[in-house]
Amino acid sequence: MRFHACLSALLLAGCASAPPEPAWVSEADPALVALSGTSRVDIEVDWFAQVPPDEVALEGLAVVARRECPGKVVTIRLDTELPESGWKSSRGGAIETVLDGCRGRREAAPGVAYVHVLYCPTNPWGEEYASNGLCRRLEKPFPHWQIFVFKGTLRSRAVLGLSAGVVDRSCLVHEFGHALGLVANPDHRFEDGGGHCTDTSCVMTKPKLKAILDNAAKVIATGETPWDYCDRCRADLDRARRLYAAR
Ligand SMILES: [Zn+2]
Ligand SMILES: [Zn+2]
Repeated sequence: MRFHACLSALLLAGCASAPPEPAWVSEADPALVALSGTSRVDIEVDWFAQVPPDEVALEGLAVVARRECPGKVVTIRLDTELPESGWKSSRGGAIETVLDGCRGRREAAPGVAYVHVLYCPTNPWGEEYASNGLCRRLEKPFPHWQIFVFKGTLRSRAVLGLSAGVVDRSCLVHEFGHALGLVANPDHRFEDGGGHCTDTSCVMTKPKLKAILDNAAKVIATGETPWDYCDRCRADLDRARRLYAAR
């Protein structure tokens, strides 16, 4: 009797020491970060002819996607080049028709997480709320991530000796970070709801003046700008991975 009481007290203590994970942990997309479930990540890249993706950007994306989507076959496919002349008629809501036309997949495939990237000269809806790039979760025609890189705008920002490719890489990896689920942890997230990291050396930070100034010396000296997730962002994804593995 005494033994049972002891044992249940121990069990209770055991439970109490492992509180459930906070809700933000599961904001990471299990289809991308979990060790099981999906077996492939299919990233398709399309572009308007005047703004092709830079090789260095695709290489950077490959590095982070292979690391953060462990155990999955990650493919990055250069798919459709849209004619330069098509951009004029692709502004505003018309961009959705462009996406429907160039998206290589028509429906969900079992075990495949799909990410569709489109390079545009500028934000088709205007510059007000996102001028570098954008990451959206679309449910139609099937659930997937849709990323924009506004390459014409990025080119105009390639200052301080930065090449357009290096700026492209930071933008593409940043938008992919939103698809992964960054930044959800309130310990290092700006409180404006934008999902951005307070670490100015992290690619998930906001392009604020402080981040630019913090990085300016390095940019001038090396021609490089941060293009990877910081340790805390990577730890958040690991934490989600452990949570999904335990379920
Ligand atoms: Zn962002
Ligand atoms: Zn970070």
